[in-house]
Amino acid sequence: MTDAAELRTRTQRLLAEHPPATTAREDFLRARFDAGLAWVHYPVGLGGLDAPRSLQAVVDAELAAAGAPDNDPRRIGIGLGMAAPTLLAYGSDEVKQRFLKPLWVGEEVWCQLFSEPGAGSDLAALATRAVRDGDTWVVNGQKVWTSSAHVARWAILIARTDPDLPKHRGITYFVCDMTDPGVEVRPLRQITGEAEFNEVFLTDVRIPDAHRLGEAGDGWRVAQTTLMNERVSIGGARIPREGGMIGPVAKTWRERPDLRTHDLHRRLLDLWVDSEVARLTGERLRQQLVAGQPGPEGSAMKLGFARLNQAISGLEVELLGDEGLLYGDWTMRRPELVDFTGRDAGYRYLRSKGNSIEGGTTEVLLNIVAERVLGLPPEPRNDKDVAWKDLAR
Ligand SMILES: Cc1cc2nc3c(=O)[nH]c(=O)nc-3n(C[C@H](O)[C@H](O)[C@H](O)COP(=O)(O)OP(=O)(O)OC[C@H]3O[C@@H](n4cnc5c(N)ncnc54)[C@H](O)[C@@H]3O)c2cc1C
Repeated sequence: MTDAAELRTRTQRLLAEHPPATTAREDFLRARFDAGLAWVHYPVGLGGLDAPRSLQAVVDAELAAAGAPDNDPRRIGIGLGMAAPTLLAYGSDEVKQRFLKPLWVGEEVWCQLFSEPGAGSDLAALATRAVRDGDTWVVNGQKVWTSSAHVARWAILIARTDPDLPKHRGITYFVCDMTDPGVEVRPLRQITGEAEFNEVFLTDVRIPDAHRLGEAGDGWRVAQTTLMNERVSIGGARIPREGGMIGPVAKTWRERPDLRTHDLHRRLLDLWVDSEVARLTGERLRQQLVAGQPGPEGSAMKLGFARLNQAISGLEVELLGDEGLLYGDWTMRRPELVDFTGRDAGYRYLRSKGNSIEGGTTEVLLNIVAERVLGLPPEPRNDKDVAWKDLAR
């Protein structure tokens, strides 16, 4: 069993053989992957050492102290947080060998082709069709709200392969090549003025059967791995104290005594404490993850993240008064990632509105917590045994 001392030794060897100061960033990251120090809990040969997940912190601390570059996890969040655990759990050996390294290094960005105009919360109702043709599948349909599709090389995709079965049972999960000529990506402009997500039209897109994850018809189960990991990756990033949305407000409070009022002070303190509780809950969740796949606790975490971000960014706009209403630039940018830092208060206020929709809406996550954490009776599901083709749409 790999322990902390061995990981330190391996990390020091990596640093000695590939000094960060004189090694190109991607070369260093590739060497780190090959040394099994990318995600230590992954298997040997796939960027890991089969070590306990908790020991990743040992490697990260050594590398940070040496000034080594990281793989910019925010830029490749969908790949790291959602595609990778699904590829690991359901991909063939060839698939894992082909995709995991460029994904982790950040050479290939991933996006998630799940939501459709008629299938968001009720994702299992999706209508995009995949029809088998020899060794390939031919895919036709439309996806929507696809973050990063404009920069993505690959996508995780779910499509209907058997309309005669009930909705959850006729779905299959694929890796889709975003450079296929049948993939058309169009920007969708958001309330912020930016277009970080897209609608994606799929016309006769051909996917090799080798790029199927899991069995044909078992895509819903495979998608659960993605969705559970998505909630953790949206709400559960490791951040330092005041590293989240509360940071800029606390800074403004300290630097601008002219804006302070007694009422805002009390609300800021409440939200500061809530942020700290959320941060520490995230730490606990990560420790639970050491023991396995995320469960419904990730949904609770994501719920809290959305609620807090919206409350804090609202307070920030209020604190800034007239200044908070300024929104300088409505240029339709196509950002590669969502970054709340270094932006003005108006951006944070508007962008955080999406937090209670993306990765499962607050209402749907409340249903999950009610059923799976609190054990309350489930919602009625009358369409569970009806063939998808007979559902009212
Ligand atoms: C910023 C952002 C980024 C996104 N990125 C991606 C992406 O990369 N890939 C992707 O596939 N999708 C993405 N999405 C889509 C997102 O997953 C969906 O928007 C979300 O699941 C909700 O689906 P919907 O928009 O169709 O709303 P609907 O499902 O139509 O919901 C409408 C309203 O009805 C409520 N509702 C629905 N069902 C229930 C129920 N059973 N009980 C109580 N209330 C209910 C909802 O809470 C909501 O208020 C993104 C969304 C946003 C906002």
